[in-house]
Amino acid sequence: MRIGSRDPTREAAWGVPTGGGMKDLVDITQPLRNGVPPWPGDTEFSFEPTSKLGEDGSVVNVGKFVASCHTGTHIDAPYHYDDDGKRVHELDLALYAGMAKVIEVSGAGSIGESELREHEFDGVPRLLVKTGAWTERSEFPETIVYFRTDAAPFLASRGVRLLGTEMPSVDPIQSKDLPAHHALHDHNIHILEGVVLDEIEPGDYELIALPLPLRDADGSPVRAALRRKDRESGAAH
Ligand SMILES: [Zn+2]
Repeated sequence: MRIGSRDPTREAAWGVPTGGGMKDLVDITQPLRNGVPPWPGDTEFSFEPTSKLGEDGSVVNVGKFVASCHTGTHIDAPYHYDDDGKRVHELDLALYAGMAKVIEVSGAGSIGESELREHEFDGVPRLLVKTGAWTERSEFPETIVYFRTDAAPFLASRGVRLLGTEMPSVDPIQSKDLPAHHALHDHNIHILEGVVLDEIEPGDYELIALPLPLRDADGSPVRAALRRKDRESGAAH
């Protein structure tokens, strides 16, 4: 093969970007932009240029951003709600990449075993729950479709290790004791918050939502994406 020659079949198999974006890879991340609403009282996200190409002798554009670890689409490390819990750099990356299922639970104010029981997700390690309850993301939601504590043992009994929600929390905004966070933690289920599932049909996918290697941190923004999977193919784990 000539050096630099391209083999479209091989490129497709390896997922080489084609320039139009990978058609089967759907971004489910909230854009990080000035004005993205923080958790009430938490650090506001900001991005600003610190150096402009051509100005003051600068040869590059450089920017900086400031963010809470819980900005937009993010994962919670157990240390967020437990002083002895794992921090972001201690988390197993394998949790955040692999086979996942999206289910839709709409119209419920909270989600527990009775709502989850309606869905089949036996052996699914990563479950994303679409509610459609927060679509106006320029404003922080007034109420959260939260998880009741009986969701945790039920999810664990089905093999779920990562629970994804569109909401900024798995507990109500006003909650001080965070019962769902703790119940999920007690059942070894990790938490992904703020995913954008507006355009996502329920079904089987491959999830990619890797946290940054933030030393000692309590959470991390992620770039989350889903790739549609034919579950029977068994290609994703
Ligand atoms: Zn969080």
